[in-house]
Amino acid sequence: MQQLTPPTRVLMGPGPSPVPASVLNALSKPTVGHLDPYFLQVMDEVREMLRQAFNTKNRLTFPMSGTGSAGMETCFVNLVEPGARVLVGVNGVFGTRMVEVAKRCGAEVTPCEQTWGRALSKEQLLKAADGKPFDILAVVHAETSTGVLQDLAPMREAANELGALLLVDAVTSLGGSHIDLDEHGVDAVYSGTQKCLSCPPGLAPISFSKNAEERLAARKQPVQSWYLDLSLIASYWGQARAYHHTAPINMMYGLHEALRLTLDEGLEDRVARHQRHSGALRAGLEAMGLTLVVPEDERLPQLTSVSIPEGVDDAKVRAQLLRDFGLEIGGGLGPLKGKTWRIGLMGAGATRNHVVTCLSSLYATLTAQGFSPKDEPLSAVADAYERSRPK
Ligand SMILES: *Cc1c(COP(=O)(O)O)cnc(C)c1O
Repeated sequence: MQQLTPPTRVLMGPGPSPVPASVLNALSKPTVGHLDPYFLQVMDEVREMLRQAFNTKNRLTFPMSGTGSAGMETCFVNLVEPGARVLVGVNGVFGTRMVEVAKRCGAEVTPCEQTWGRALSKEQLLKAADGKPFDILAVVHAETSTGVLQDLAPMREAANELGALLLVDAVTSLGGSHIDLDEHGVDAVYSGTQKCLSCPPGLAPISFSKNAEERLAARKQPVQSWYLDLSLIASYWGQARAYHHTAPINMMYGLHEALRLTLDEGLEDRVARHQRHSGALRAGLEAMGLTLVVPEDERLPQLTSVSIPEGVDDAKVRAQLLRDFGLEIGGGLGPLKGKTWRIGLMGAGATRNHVVTCLSSLYATLTAQGFSPKDEPLSAVADAYERSRPK
């Protein structure tokens, strides 16, 4: 058997995003025991950095072992008992997944359906609730399947009217969009490492508010998943340091470095960087005559959905981008399958180099496949960068 030699790709899909060398290096440091004093120190630092990244003082804040979806399961299995009433905002794949997960926990789920590619309003949620109380309102902050950024303030207002805890999917927003758990009154949140934190996939940061902790403590039945039971895992992260499962030691090193880089850059500067580069990407796409799926004021900087022009073959274009340029972009999902491309500018991938590489590769590929772009994209990109130059 040969040693592995994975190709170096330009990752501009919906995740994973490019991983900085220092994060890859951190992963290769010596493995220590999961109760080694050195590792306990690493855990404490990761937790403190996560609190800063989430803007929260929540006690229950740490990464779960597993990917973003394990974070989703963690929030639902801990907060939902059979018969609980859960209202879910559904405007893409991840809202749909939350409905599925909540149902499997035995919840009575009411989906609030919104067109894919649009954000949800408080009025829509209250209409779907139909005057009834709910235990949980669950929404996706950054819907990676469509490229919509959900404003959380009206979601908190809706949760207040319903008497519900607010549960938020922040898998793609953490490290890319402003998120402030304490300001927005988010009760339970989960995220992932491979989107705007630019770490490989494998951990799922979560955080629970005091109210969510109380809900957990008041359960009548034990959490149905032993592995994801926060009351057990909290005692490994707390004073007791009680063994529950072996923490993925080296992944924790990687997350430590990814969070260190994120906070070193500064959360606000990092958000501004995502906005600046996505503005330039969009200028280039529009110069080529392509149309963006999401209305301007609901767009997610770290992921842009663009409509595939009539007569252009989705799979052929993406295959050629990968073959000729080593470039990965995402295809559409669900009702948008075959109709959109999803271009990610996440974490370390939100750079001018990535924007220019993507647009020139797409321009060449579309031309090669018989579609004539309206204009070449790079002068519009240069203009956009000139206009957005930091003062
Ligand atoms: C990627 C993603 C998930 C799922 O995370 P996995 O790491 O793939 O399990 C959930 N929600 C959103 C918004 C995502 O982008």
